[in-house]
Amino acid sequence: MHANPFENALKQLARAARLYRNGIFGQGKVKKFSTELLARLAQPEREINVAIPVRMDDGSVRIFDGYRVQHSNLRGPYKGGIRFHHDTDINEVRALAFWMTLKTAVAGIPFGGGKGGVTVDPKKLSRGELERLSRAFVRALAPVLGARADIPAPDVGTTPEIMEWMADEYKEITGDKTRAAFTGKPVAYSGSEGRNAATGVGGFFVFDALRASLGITKGATLAVQGIGNVGAHAARVFEENGYKVVALSDSKSGVYNPNGLSVSAVLEYKKKHGTLHGFSSARIISNEKLLLLPVDVLIPAALENQITKQNAHAVKAKVILELANGPTTPEADDILFRRGTSVVPDILANAGGVAVSYFEWKQNLKKEHWSEKEVFRKLRVLLAREARAIFSRFRALKTDLRRAAFVVALERLEKALREK
Ligand code: GLU
Repeated sequence: MHANPFENALKQLARAARLYRNGIFGQGKVKKFSTELLARLAQPEREINVAIPVRMDDGSVRIFDGYRVQHSNLRGPYKGGIRFHHDTDINEVRALAFWMTLKTAVAGIPFGGGKGGVTVDPKKLSRGELERLSRAFVRALAPVLGARADIPAPDVGTTPEIMEWMADEYKEITGDKTRAAFTGKPVAYSGSEGRNAATGVGGFFVFDALRASLGITKGATLAVQGIGNVGAHAARVFEENGYKVVALSDSKSGVYNPNGLSVSAVLEYKKKHGTLHGFSSARIISNEKLLLLPVDVLIPAALENQITKQNAHAVKAKVILELANGPTTPEADDILFRRGTSVVPDILANAGGVAVSYFEWKQNLKKEHWSEKEVFRKLRVLLAREARAIFSRFRALKTDLRRAAFVVALERLEKALREK
């Protein structure tokens, strides 16, 4: 049941590299990916395991397992979020770090890839415990972090407030006042306008740039798996732009109404009751069923390994927009490709988050503050450009969008390696 996401990530790498070896390419400057590049990417440059002692409210001390994986800094400082989740382990963090290397290359921003994590259910900690854990995580890892070395951000289970605790702890330890060693901070604490919504909004920008090419009409229907930060913002933006959101889910269950849901009504209900059960004017469905609904667009916005060889045959959506990292396995990719389902891959679809992290880092270093309008304008330009570049590669190569995105990323990484 527990597929290793890093093995899937390596399979994706091998599949994209194979396109080159089979001689399908050769028009660009890069004729072939070097064995050196592929060997470097197959293994993270550095992995750090830490034991994090935290004083709990009852006076006892609990030790949490923490990780930071620095996958590649070929194109710039390591960059990537920190996940707080009870299932997080080193294999997951390693895969997520690998995807960050590819994602920052796809976005064309001067960063490499990294990721961190703590095996913890943050919902079970008090606010004080969560703050002590966040600060202790930074104390354990401060020597390897920094605005020019490794720049964390939020991910599943972490928030702007947590980033603020971390940035503050980092400043206490190192005296660095730029606050650029962490991104995704609250706007009032030198965060960027638009960063919190950036992954969801960016997903819409990518979709909007490709919509006509993917054969989707405006006002199409969609289902969103996950109403955490990413899924909730995505659902809102699609709704604001005239799309019909028919299903939403949290980690326990989903709500479905083929005539459309009010996204804000669902989110408010969840906030008030902590569950989607009892939400009127919709049917309760499971997360498994949500993936198989007859919709135009399916947005997985939760965790890895959701669409697999077991259920890919039954997916009815025309387009899958991957706002989660790694939601589709390589075997499922093949099945979906044969069935004519387009998968807009995570490393493109959810790159809006890290792109605005880059804007935040830049603003911090230059002591600037950009308006939300400015941030989203820049984000749309960046994502639309990269989405179209990947789409034209996809056409030329007659492959899937994931391989096309990998090829674009690998070319940029190969160039960085040669310039080294
Ligand atoms: N955690 C987000 C991701 O998976 C954002 C990372 C960042 O902003 O550095 O892309």
